[in-house]
Amino acid sequence: TTDNAAKARISASELADVDRAHIIHPYLSATTTERVVMAKGQGSTLWDVDGREYLDATGGLWLAQVGHGRAELAEAAATQMRQLEYFTSFWEFSNNRAIELADRLAGLAPDNLNHVYFTSGGSEGIEAALKMARHHHYRRGDTDRTWILARHRAYHGVAYGGGTATGFPLYHDGFGPMLPDVAHLTPPWPYRTDLFGDEDCTDVCIRELENTIAEIGADNIAAMIGEPIMGVAGMVVPPDDYWPRVQEVLHRHGILLILDEVVTAYGRVGQWFAADHFGVRPDIIVTAKGITSGYLPLGAVLVDDHIAETLGQQGFPMGYTYNGHPTSCAVAQANLDIIDREHLLSRATEIGTYLTEKIATELKGIPVVGEVRGVGMMLGIELVSDTATRTPLPNPGAVADAVRREHGVIVRDSAQGLVLSPALTLGHNEADRIAAALRRVLERTD
Ligand code: PLP
Repeated sequence: TTDNAAKARISASELADVDRAHIIHPYLSATTTERVVMAKGQGSTLWDVDGREYLDATGGLWLAQVGHGRAELAEAAATQMRQLEYFTSFWEFSNNRAIELADRLAGLAPDNLNHVYFTSGGSEGIEAALKMARHHHYRRGDTDRTWILARHRAYHGVAYGGGTATGFPLYHDGFGPMLPDVAHLTPPWPYRTDLFGDEDCTDVCIRELENTIAEIGADNIAAMIGEPIMGVAGMVVPPDDYWPRVQEVLHRHGILLILDEVVTAYGRVGQWFAADHFGVRPDIIVTAKGITSGYLPLGAVLVDDHIAETLGQQGFPMGYTYNGHPTSCAVAQANLDIIDREHLLSRATEIGTYLTEKIATELKGIPVVGEVRGVGMMLGIELVSDTATRTPLPNPGAVADAVRREHGVIVRDSAQGLVLSPALTLGHNEADRIAAALRRVLERTD
């Protein structure tokens, strides 16, 4: 140990207190009284500073595609840092690692999405995508096309641009005026019969989309942004015809389609992109998280040829210090190598189907379980206090806490239930343990 490391060390029993004294955690976490301090990870197993073991059913924050503790990724970072950790502005200069990764991503991305704008994460990518959509129209002389269509219950980060598109009042209230010219539509959420009654979910959403476009005026709308499967809302899977029909309407009106694939890209749904799963060809795809499995921060906005052409010689006047960070890009390459070598796309479908079926079987007949759904390794469990009215269970967070405290299994709560997104390498016996822990807690929940 170096002197510095020794000096920085705080005893395990003091860490939580020092955390409370000095760290502002995101969101509403000031209310968290009992905070677990993590120290180590391997595969889907985590250990806290007291040595207690956990099973990670969230894959970090929905991104640990290859699991924790991969020495290969640490080596990729170390090798690149020894060569060139980072060098100044990506505006005038480039670097070999970013070029190699862009070339690979252009090959993986749907048809004409051959251009990459690198960021440090999802939120920066969303900001870039929204600005790029507006700027594209502006350059073409369509200067009135400023409106952005989004959905209620969407999550696109909490910056002012993406945060406005985010469809939860909690993230708007108390922050002053948000971005103007953003309209929120009904989310495609078939389980929520209160939103759709007896009507077909997609029909209702498409009619509302057409009406909204007519009201605002197609010539005033730049883009629609959406998560192919809504994560924070509760892993909400739309009907198969939703995205193709949305795409058809937008295309007819010259409105760009931005897919927020921050969670869904790089294997989580059993394909490189959820656009492939739903058979749509967006104009822009925003990615982050799984591109490095979280080992280093990185995002990549994938852009269609026709937009890159409009930006052309004049370029795109916005940038970040860490655009194209070579060490993050080197780690992304090594991460994608593992996904390829270990066939993690097909594995996500295989183990994801196993996990979903196992959970559905274990939870069958439990009164608070409304629905178990998922695509690949994105699973949502809708919890209700009354299955007939489908009234949401008031405090799914208490369920997630109990699953962790009593069984050492980490799941997340969403507004209306639980969400799971384990590493794509999860073992069958680990899937069994997750399902059993959920059953034990949910069967006594009311
Ligand atoms: N978009 C989606 C769909 C997300 O789930 C998230 C984060 O969870 C973001 C955007 C924001 O990404 P980041 O937290 O990396 O800034």
